[in-house]
Amino acid sequence: MSQPASSSISAESISELTRDTNYGTWRFQKGWKPLHVVDAEGCWFTDDAGKRYLDMSSQLMCVNLGHKNPRVIESIAEQARELPFMGPAYATNARARLSAKLLELLPAGLEKFFFTTSGTDANEAAFKIARMVTGKNKIISRYRSYHGSTAASIAATGDLRRWAMEPAGKGMGFVFAPETNCYKCPIGHTYPGCNIACADYIDHMIRNEGDVAAVLVEPIVGTNGVLIPPPEYLPKLREICDRHSVLLIADEVMTGWGRTGKWFAVDHWNVKPDILTTAKGITSAYVPLGLCATTKKLADYFEDRYFSHGHTYEAHPITLGPAVATIEEMQRLALVERAAEMEPYLRERLEGLKTKHVSIGDVHGIGLFFAVELVKNRTTKEPFNTMRDKVEGKPLVVDQIAAKMMADGVAQQSWVSHFVIAPPLIVTKEELDFGIDALDRHLAIADALAV
Ligand code: PLP
Repeated sequence: MSQPASSSISAESISELTRDTNYGTWRFQKGWKPLHVVDAEGCWFTDDAGKRYLDMSSQLMCVNLGHKNPRVIESIAEQARELPFMGPAYATNARARLSAKLLELLPAGLEKFFFTTSGTDANEAAFKIARMVTGKNKIISRYRSYHGSTAASIAATGDLRRWAMEPAGKGMGFVFAPETNCYKCPIGHTYPGCNIACADYIDHMIRNEGDVAAVLVEPIVGTNGVLIPPPEYLPKLREICDRHSVLLIADEVMTGWGRTGKWFAVDHWNVKPDILTTAKGITSAYVPLGLCATTKKLADYFEDRYFSHGHTYEAHPITLGPAVATIEEMQRLALVERAAEMEPYLRERLEGLKTKHVSIGDVHGIGLFFAVELVKNRTTKEPFNTMRDKVEGKPLVVDQIAAKMMADGVAQQSWVSHFVIAPPLIVTKEELDFGIDALDRHLAIADALAV
């Protein structure tokens, strides 16, 4: 393969060169033609031909502030001028300012921080801390979940992304419980009237597994379908964990920072986890930052014991200064409140699609975070495609629709048999209409296949 020298890459060859020299992640390599993006502003990005796309999923549910916020951009430059790097053993202005901000905003009790560069390594820190403090190894996770891509976090992941690592994933100490899914309960119950049997299932697991250090949940499941638990679920899980002296870890990598209409998803039920992990929206992904926050009680364990964890890039100043700016911008623009205010409009529009399209099985969501779940058959709730279809590379109905939407200038994330609607929190009603109208137009593809 001969490629041009880096100084003479033509605009036309950017996509090809990227494709030939980079891995396309979570996909078959064949057929990957990365779109060459040259600009992004607000809720839109632009390709090299000048075509604009509405970003209906905020680039993997990251860009809560929207693209190219000038104050955050300036904060990156300011931080670079002030102090681009110091190793993790030092105190810096940025580190102190962000820590003070977090004490204001995180659920009460989370007072000790470990800063990372991704959601994955925030979860790795959480697992190690939970295991070191409790002296126990097992962590209960749930099937419809994603917790990251490294050895332990992929083993903690319940969805198809774990499969390629089996049997290596086994032996990492993760055991799986059914997810909470009131549209399609994996253990055959119907809410209300189930007495939250999915939480009791975890109680049963803790008693029978032995050696359980923690229960790990996405309080609202993200990529796997924006699954909102019934109001009793998380308080009940908190009580079960307390009764067994097991830690509760809330993975808020996707749900944190206003996405659901509160700063954090656990705030909807006033549940206080022992450990909370987050990333993405903390900087709107302008710079790569993750966070593992724990209670002081957990942190105190290490006062006289070795804290056996760390990274060179931990608490990197270039990531921390812009996080303060991001949070200040979210407060100035009242974006958390805005996500809650926009929810009824988004819900009404998506429910409207459901009355029109037989292929929509369910619409569920909160704040500016919704899933549209497609089914072949509304009575049996059978999906068009399964996780198995995805790993085997079969064409997925949702991907065909997303490709048509993309051609119409709407970038819409799809996963197995649903869409995740999660635009930047600055989105207007007109922009939402533009995106939902495109979905409306192309759902005919699924309707024609529904029975
Ligand atoms: N946890 C959840 C809930 C996520 O959604 C993700 C990423 O999508 C991760 C963890 C991993 O985060 P990262 O991709 O930043 O490593």
